[in-house]
Amino acid sequence: MAYESELALRLEPYTAGEQPRGMARLIKLNTNENPYPPSPRVAEALQGRAAELRLYPDMETTALREAIARVNGLRPEQVFCGNGSDEVLAFAFAAFFAGKQLTAPEVTYSFYPVYARLFGVDYHPVPLRADFTVDADALMRGTPVVLANPNAPTGLMLPLREVERLARHTRERGQVLLVDEAYAAFAPENALPLLAEYDNLLIVRTFSKSHALAGMRVGYALGSERLMNALRRVRDSFNSYPVDRLAQAAAEAAVLDTAYTDGRVRQIVEARDRCRAALTAAGIPVLESRTNFLFVRADPTDAAPVQQALRQEGILVRHFTGDRLRPWLRVTVGTAEDMETVTEALLRLCRRADE
Ligand code: PMP
Repeated sequence: MAYESELALRLEPYTAGEQPRGMARLIKLNTNENPYPPSPRVAEALQGRAAELRLYPDMETTALREAIARVNGLRPEQVFCGNGSDEVLAFAFAAFFAGKQLTAPEVTYSFYPVYARLFGVDYHPVPLRADFTVDADALMRGTPVVLANPNAPTGLMLPLREVERLARHTRERGQVLLVDEAYAAFAPENALPLLAEYDNLLIVRTFSKSHALAGMRVGYALGSERLMNALRRVRDSFNSYPVDRLAQAAAEAAVLDTAYTDGRVRQIVEARDRCRAALTAAGIPVLESRTNFLFVRADPTDAAPVQQALRQEGILVRHFTGDRLRPWLRVTVGTAEDMETVTEALLRLCRRADE
């Protein structure tokens, strides 16, 4: 006998990166947050809203969906909003994968296997290629399919034509292709153009990275009306008001300020590419990032000591265990100034294969 349900006992929860309490002198590059503040229009949108908080929010997030639809050239019926993209992903697992087999790249966002357990999904990881790229042919061994594109923590991107092959393959089998585009704002292309053709394609995005609203918790899905209706059915079986009033107002202001976001994204991409060029020139392998983080091979066998040494210098980065990932560190791209500090530290601390 146990107080806990079988389900609770069986869960293996996701471990998020550390959120230190005293952040005074730390350079925090461990959870892929944006180093810059959100658009100034966010603060304006939040002004004087406290009195409204006695009322429940708009459960259909109408104004926010209209804004997201406008920016992406879609209809509001093709947009669904949730409490961070993690929640949208959870709803999607329940809506499209529960009780089914699900195929995913072996190295990817580590929340997917956690949701699979929670929702009774038979999760089938497929190895990456030797160069860490996603093997689309191997993914086609099963359906439905989930993938993060660009992938995490590698930062590498599956080209759009490959995503389209997966969309067609899964549609032929009557299943959904979920493409998690948490980092797509930092990439040269995304799956949006495929939505007109594929009613089984579900794109999930977040305001946490490109729009600097990780603290607000807003994410969204794009796709056919049929898919959005299924997400709504799951939401309304769990929590009808997951996106609060302040979050709706903040995200709406942020998504409409495209000039601000584009400028910040450009700064981050420039700092990213400069850091990667300096490290690779010094013989430190860094995968070609299409995201706001770099995957750096800090040591031929185990990067944990380099992570610790960086921490001593007040720089937080993420290290993953598991044989393939152990030599690598995931370094979020910070401000140009922070990246100079971090590049210098990595050049000094990383161990090359020949050392
Ligand atoms: N997808 C991927 C691939 C991520 O890396 C993250 C960030 N941890 C998320 C989704 C979740 O982001 P959020 O819940 O903040 O929207």
